[in-house]
Amino acid sequence: MSKRKKRRKKRRALKITSPARDFPEEKEEEKKTRPRKKKIFLFSISFFLIILIFSVSFIIKNKSNKKIRRDDSLNLLLITIDTIRGDRVGYAGYDVDTPSLDSLAQGGASFMNAVCQVPLTLPSHASILTGTSPLYHQIRNNEDFVLEEDFTTLAELLKNKGYLTAAFISAFVLSSQFGMNQGFDFYDDKYETPEVLKPYGPQRRAEQVYSSAASWIEENHENNFFVWVHFFDPHFPYTPPSPFDVKYKSRPYDGEIAYTDIYVGKLIQILKEKNISGKTLVVIAGDHGEDLWQHSEPTHGMFLYETTLKIPLLFNCPEIIPGGVRIKEQVRSIDIFPTILDVFQIDIPPFCQGISLVPAIEGKKIKETRKSYAETYYPLLAHGWSAQESIRTDKWKYILSPRSELYDLEEDPEETKNLIAAKPEIVTELRRELEGLKKKFSSSRSLPIKELTPEEKEKLRALGYVGGALPPGSDSKGRPDPKDKIDTLKKLYAARTAIRQGELEKGERILRELKREDPENPRVYQSLGKIYQQKEDWAKAIDELRKAVSLNPRDVVSYFQLSQSYSNLGMMEEAASAAQATLNLRPNHLLSLLFLAYYHKSTNNITECILYLERALQVAPSVTKVRLDYGDALVLAGKYERAIGEYQHLLAEMPEDPQIYNKLGSVYFYVDDYLKAIEYFEREVSFKGNPNSYFLLGAAYGKLGKYSEAVDNLEKYLAYAPAQDPKRQKAEAT
Ligand SMILES: [Zn+2]
Repeated sequence: MSKRKKRRKKRRALKITSPARDFPEEKEEEKKTRPRKKKIFLFSISFFLIILIFSVSFIIKNKSNKKIRRDDSLNLLLITIDTIRGDRVGYAGYDVDTPSLDSLAQGGASFMNAVCQVPLTLPSHASILTGTSPLYHQIRNNEDFVLEEDFTTLAELLKNKGYLTAAFISAFVLSSQFGMNQGFDFYDDKYETPEVLKPYGPQRRAEQVYSSAASWIEENHENNFFVWVHFFDPHFPYTPPSPFDVKYKSRPYDGEIAYTDIYVGKLIQILKEKNISGKTLVVIAGDHGEDLWQHSEPTHGMFLYETTLKIPLLFNCPEIIPGGVRIKEQVRSIDIFPTILDVFQIDIPPFCQGISLVPAIEGKKIKETRKSYAETYYPLLAHGWSAQESIRTDKWKYILSPRSELYDLEEDPEETKNLIAAKPEIVTELRRELEGLKKKFSSSRSLPIKELTPEEKEKLRALGYVGGALPPGSDSKGRPDPKDKIDTLKKLYAARTAIRQGELEKGERILRELKREDPENPRVYQSLGKIYQQKEDWAKAIDELRKAVSLNPRDVVSYFQLSQSYSNLGMMEEAASAAQATLNLRPNHLLSLLFLAYYHKSTNNITECILYLERALQVAPSVTKVRLDYGDALVLAGKYERAIGEYQHLLAEMPEDPQIYNKLGSVYFYVDDYLKAIEYFEREVSFKGNPNSYFLLGAAYGKLGKYSEAVDNLEKYLAYAPAQDPKRQKAEAT
C-alpha cells in the first residue's frame, strides 16, 4: 500500500470514529476536479481539523469527567493529621513512604498549595470545623480558650441532617473540655483511662485511635455517618515505633508520618471491606506544619513561615470526586467546611468565611481564596512577645510584626530573602489588603471569657494574681519581635528538653538565667513553677506561678498548678480560689471540678460538692472515679436511692469490681436492708478478702439475729484486721 493510500485509509477510519459528525463531507465529483496538490493541501487541513475537533471533544469529555457529583447521602470520613507539613508527603515529591496518602491523592483531588489560618492545634481545628478565621472564633491558643456553645460546627450541621457523628481524638489539646465535641454523638477522647486524671492528659498512638474508630465504623456503617479521626503522631516528641524508628533513624519526624500513613490506609481499607468507599467522602487535612529549625523554631506556633502554614489537603471519593486532579492555586483551611457542605448539598451557613472548593476541583479559577489571612498569638500569650499576622497570595507573603517581612514565594519558596525594603509599593498594597481581611473576618463578639463576680475578683485580688483579661491584638505594641528572641527560644527549648528527661537542676539553671534575660516572659515562670512542683517545693512553685498568671491572666495551666500547690501546703481557701479561676477560663476543667468537689466535701458543704461532681460527670461520664465519688457524695447527703442507682449503673459496666459491691452493701446497711447488704458483701468477699467487709458482713448477720454467721465473719475479720483498728474491740467483744 502506498503512503497516500495508507493516509486515506487512516482518514476514513478517523472519520468513522470521529465524533465530528456534522463536519461536511466532500462531494465525490468536486474531489475529482481538484488538482492533486490542492487535494493534498485540503486533505492536510481537514485531517488537522478532524484531529483538532477530536481532541477538543476529548478535552470537553475529559473536563465533564472532572465534574463533582453532589450527593446528599454520602458519609464523611475526615482525617486530620497533626503537625504534618504540606511538603513532607510522598505525593508532593518528598522521600517518605506514604502509600496511602499517595493513592488517595492519585484517586482524588489534591490541593498542593493549601494553608492553615493559624499554626496551633486547637485554633486551627476550630477553623476547620467551623469554616471561620481565628479573628472570628477567637481561639488564640491551645489550653486557654474554649469554643463557645453558640458556634455551629460541621458535626452539628450533619447531625441535624440525621447523621450519626463520632470523633476519635489523639491528644488532650482537642479533648471535649475545649468545646470541639459539639455535635458529636460519640467523642472518644479516651476519658475512661486513668490517664485523664493526670494534669496533661492522654496522647494516643495512631494504632489505638484507629482501632477505636474502626470498631465504631464496623458497628455503624449501615447508617449515614460523619467520623472525624485525629492522628497526633507527627507532633513533638518524634518517637516512631518499630520498624519506622530504624528506617527513619536520622529523621524521626518523617518516621512518624510514615507510621501514621499506615493507619490512614487501614481506615480506607475498612471502607472498602464494608463496600462503602463509593459513598464515603474522605477528606485529609493537616492542622499546621513544623518548622524543624528551618527558621530557628524547633516546632510550630511562633512564626508564620511556609514550614508551619502549608498543609496537605485531599478530597477523595470514587465516582464523586474526579481522580488525579492537582490544584496549584492557594486554598485555605477555612474552605474545607463549605466544600464538604457543598458536596453534601447542605446550605452553607452565612457565618462561614471560607468558600466551596468544588469549582476549583472542576478546573475553574476561584478568586476568593487568593488572599489568605494567618495569625499567631502564641508569642504574645505564652512569651509576652509580639503577635504575628500575615497575608499570603500565590506569589507574596507579607508578615506584619515589629520587623515586618515580605517574601516572593514563587522565586523564594524557602523565604530566605526579606524584600520588605526592596518592594515598598507591594508592601503598601498588601498591608492595605491585610487590614481589609482583618476587618472582613473579625467578629463583634466580645472575648469569650467569663466575667468574674465582684466577690471572686476580690478573692483573687487578695491572692495578688489577677490582672484581668488580656485582649488579644491590642497590646503587641512595644513588645519584642520573636525573631529577635531566637536565643531565648533555644534556651527555653533546652530547658523543656532537660525537664522532660528528668534533669530538673539543669532546667532550673537555664530558666533562672532566662528570668534575668527576659523578665516579662510568662512561659519562663510557668516552667519554673512546674520544676518546683516536681521537686515538691510548693512555696517556691507558688511564687513563680503567681508571676506567670500576672503576666498572662489567661494561663489556665498555671492557675490550676497554683491550686495544686496551695492544696499541698494545706492552704485550702487559696487552693479553691485558684481552682475557681481555672474554671472561670475553662468551665470544663475536670481536675478543678473534682478538686472543688473535694474541697466542699471537706468543709461539709455536700450540696456544693454534689453540684461540682455533676458538672464533672457531664465532662467525663465514663471515668469510674468520678461516678464513685458522686455515689459517695449522694450517700453523705442521705440520698440513698440515687446513690444505689449510681452504683448499680457502675456495676452493670464493671461486674467484677469488688469495691462497687462494697459500696452497695454499705448503702443497704445504712437503710437497714440487711438481707441486701449481706448479698453484696458476700459477693465482695468472694472476689478478695477485705477485712472491713467481713466486719460489716458480721454486723449485718448480727442485725438479722444470725449469730453463728456473724461470729464466723467477725473471726475472719480479726484474722486480717490491723491491731490498731478501732473496730477490733467491738468485734472481739461480740
Ligand atoms: Zn496541631
